[in-house]
Amino acid sequence: MIVFPTDLQQAAASDGTIRAGGTDLMERRHALAGGELVDLRDVEDARAIEVLPGGGVRIGALVTIAAVAADDAVRAGYPGFAQAAGGLATPQIRAVGTIGGNLLQRTRCWYFRSPEAQCLKKGGSTCYARAGDHLWHACFDLSPCAAVHASTLGMALLAYDAGVEVVGAPIATVNELLGDGGDPMRDNQLPPHAVLRTIVLPPPTRGERSAYMRAISRARAEWPLVEVLARIGVQGDTIAWAKLAVGGVANVPLRLTELEAALVGVPAQPEALIAKASLASEGASPLPMTGYKLPLLEAAVADALERALASEPVGGA
Ligand SMILES: Cc1cc2nc3c(=O)[nH]c(=O)nc-3n(C[C@H](O)[C@H](O)[C@H](O)COP(=O)(O)OP(=O)(O)OC[C@H]3O[C@@H](n4cnc5c(N)ncnc54)[C@H](O)[C@@H]3O)c2cc1C
Repeated sequence: MIVFPTDLQQAAASDGTIRAGGTDLMERRHALAGGELVDLRDVEDARAIEVLPGGGVRIGALVTIAAVAADDAVRAGYPGFAQAAGGLATPQIRAVGTIGGNLLQRTRCWYFRSPEAQCLKKGGSTCYARAGDHLWHACFDLSPCAAVHASTLGMALLAYDAGVEVVGAPIATVNELLGDGGDPMRDNQLPPHAVLRTIVLPPPTRGERSAYMRAISRARAEWPLVEVLARIGVQGDTIAWAKLAVGGVANVPLRLTELEAALVGVPAQPEALIAKASLASEGASPLPMTGYKLPLLEAAVADALERALASEPVGGA
C-alpha cells in the first residue's frame, strides 16, 4: 500500500517507509518487502532554501541535490558544500534525489544490497564483507560492520557543524543524526517514523575558503573511494582555523580533528599545508584490502587544502 501525506507531520504519523526521490529506496528490495510506502510527492513544506535573518541558510529536506548545488546563497556562502552537491552521482540522480534522502541513504555495501545476504546490518550475525570482498570498505575500522557511509552531503555538512530539524525525534545536529558509527545495524540515528524536515547551515565565517575533493574509481556516476571537505580561515600569513571532514573511510563520516589542530598557525602556503596532510590517516586501521585508501586519503586532503587556499574567500578577503 502507498500513501501520499500532504505535510511532514502527517508523514511522521504514518507507519511506513518514507520515499522522497526514491533513488536509494527503490533499489533496496529488502526494504520494500511488505509494509506501507509513505511517498512525499504531495508534501509542500520543506521544499525551499531560505537565507536566515542572522545569516545562515535553511534547506528543506525535500530540496533536490541539483537545486542545492545551483542555489546562489549556497554557492556564495558555502562554496565547498555547493561543489560537493554538484559533484556527486549523475545529473539525473541530482535532479530527483533530495538532500534529506542523501543524508539518510543506506550503505552501498554489496552484501547489504544483496537480497540473499542476511548481513549484520539486516539483523544477521555476520559481516560478510570482512571475510569476503571489502575492496571499497572501511580503512578506519570502527564497527563490526565494515561498510562505509554513503552520504557525500552528510560528510560535507559535518565540516559545517550543520543543524537539522526532525519531526518526531530530539535530534538537532547532523553529527547527532549520523551518530558515531558504532551500531552495525544503522547508518543514522533517526528513530522509526521520524522525518527529517530541514538542514541548517550556520553563517559562514567571513573570508573563509573551502573546497571539496574526491578520489573515484571511474570518471563519474560512482560513490567516491575517499572524499574530503576542507574549510580554512587565513589570518595574515598563517592558517587561523581549519575544519575537515572525510567520507568513504568509515561507517560514518569523520572529522579530522588532529589535523585541524595541527594546521593552526601553519604558513598559508601550499607546501606547508601539503606537508601536514599525512596526518589525515592518523589512527586508521585498514582491512586487508583497504590499505590503498590511506595514500589516496592523504592525497585527497592535500589537494582539497591546496584548492581551498587558492579559492575565492567568502564575502571577500
Ligand atoms: C550512480 C549513482 C552514483 C551515486 N553517487 C553518490 C555519491 O557520490 N555520493 C552520494 O552521497 N550519493 C550518491 N548516490 C546516491 C544518491 O545521492 C541518493 O540515492 C540520493 O541522494 C537519495 O535521495 P532520495 O531523495 O532519492 O532518497 P530516497 O531513496 O527517497 O530515500 C533514501 C532513504 O532516506 C529515507 N528518507 C528520505 N527522505 C527522508 C525524510 N525527509 N525523512 C526521513 N527519512 C527520509 C528513506 O526512507 C530512505 O531510507 C549515487 C547514486 C547513484 C545511482
